Amino acid sequence: MNKKVRVRFAPSPTGGLHLGGVRTVLFNYLFAKQHGGDFIVRIEDTDQTRFVEGAEDYIFNTLKWCGLEPDESPLHGGPYAPYRQSERKANYAQYAEQLVANGHAYYAFDTTQELEQMRVDFKSEENPSPQYNHTIRTKMRNSLSLSAEEVAALKAAGTPFVIRIKMPTGETISFTDMIRGEVVFHTNQVDDKVLLKADGMPTYHLAVVVDDYAMKITHAFRGEEWLPSAPVHLLLWKYLGWENEMPEWAHLPLILKPDGNGKLSKRDGDRLGFPVFAMDWTDHKTGEKTVGFKERGFLPEAFVNLLALLGWNDGTDNELFTLDELIAAFSIDRVHKGGAKFDFEKAKWYNHEWIKRSTATSLHDSVKAMLNEHAIEVQDTAILDKVIDLVKERCTLLSDFVAQSSFFFVTPTSFDTDSIKPKWNEAKNMFFIELSNAFESSIVWQTTDLETSFKELAAAHQLKPGELMLPLRIMLVGGKFGPGVFDIAEIIGKHATVERIRMVLSIVEHP
Ligand code: GLU
Repeated sequence: MNKKVRVRFAPSPTGGLHLGGVRTVLFNYLFAKQHGGDFIVRIEDTDQTRFVEGAEDYIFNTLKWCGLEPDESPLHGGPYAPYRQSERKANYAQYAEQLVANGHAYYAFDTTQELEQMRVDFKSEENPSPQYNHTIRTKMRNSLSLSAEEVAALKAAGTPFVIRIKMPTGETISFTDMIRGEVVFHTNQVDDKVLLKADGMPTYHLAVVVDDYAMKITHAFRGEEWLPSAPVHLLLWKYLGWENEMPEWAHLPLILKPDGNGKLSKRDGDRLGFPVFAMDWTDHKTGEKTVGFKERGFLPEAFVNLLALLGWNDGTDNELFTLDELIAAFSIDRVHKGGAKFDFEKAKWYNHEWIKRSTATSLHDSVKAMLNEHAIEVQDTAILDKVIDLVKERCTLLSDFVAQSSFFFVTPTSFDTDSIKPKWNEAKNMFFIELSNAFESSIVWQTTDLETSFKELAAAHQLKPGELMLPLRIMLVGGKFGPGVFDIAEIIGKHATVERIRMVLSIVEHP
């Protein structure tokens, strides 16, 4: 049977999107596009207590920035709408009831206090955190322990209840993960998860199965942290009679802290000074802002590329891929089982490579925005493109363009004259006075002519051009960096060149 591939990213809108989340999107997307399939985004917002305003918009803005647009979603519409689980609320209860009717689930009337008491009463050395499971359920207030009359009376009285799955006892269940191979679970180790809450909302476990079925999902890629939930989902697919429709699953390896010790968290980023979220995220309640890869100066091409290589490679040494190349090269069986360590230096390397590969035209708007943020206005578009081409090799992050190119547009605010003074002498002073005069009266203003007249003048003064280059650079740039000094002179023009030479001369001579 050749079903159309349909994959989904199913985020809960609870905050900024961690790079692991974007990698899950990416693997879904690559797999779908490679197979001519559909990539669906479904918002799993059934847990109203965790709902965070702005999080859904943030997710879609991130996907847009990365160029990973869904085929179907609450924003994009589609044949299986609505794509927000809160709007599908009416669908779920019937399935929970069906499971009760078939003996695979039960009503549980326990109050919050009773549940807390249970955790105290059953706590022991062997069982430090007792769970509502096959051993304990018979001792609680539910439709397994109560008579049918008692249950009917409680329901008639409007007593709040949840529906829990009845995990079978003493069985093993297994499935074949696309990355991990066969994964086996013992049912005794899994608790009786709530499927339907007292307010009629499904929990994630019920909703994910009902919707993956309803939306004809063929492959489900999700983070490794969901592996412990898999046995519940497997049983639900089976008990609801949909076993043959169950998607294939792949649980993606975690992204680890740089030292490999545990899952990379937002706090690690704060501590070590690098972003963990895709884009800036502001917590609506606390106002706390977390910086994202985008705002830190990453190109979306680089971000996507580095995420793909966190836990996957194409079997060669090739590390640089466009999105289209990734679509062609990706294969789920080359995704590693083990976690991938995050290395910010490596992340920056990708960005540097991508900045070098990018054309001035494609970088233009982002660089202009960066410069504007630093109050540097760019009037001439063609000049900005020239500047970008000259300095991009030197920029690892987009933000580096500010330091690397501001002197093209504004006079430096300081000059590193300390680097000139130790070797300064009258001969050099005379040379630069004459150079400024020569430049002032020159008719042509082009890199090669400027370099020629500089060298000729140096020869006339019996000075080595090598000794004069550093002072000239500091005069034009402010510091010991930047591209070719005559390229800079050509771009900033005659007036600024002459003015800066004279300005520094007066500082060196009259400190
Ligand atoms: N809603 C879950 C999450 O927030 C989705 C897990 C899954 O893909 O099954 O990640």
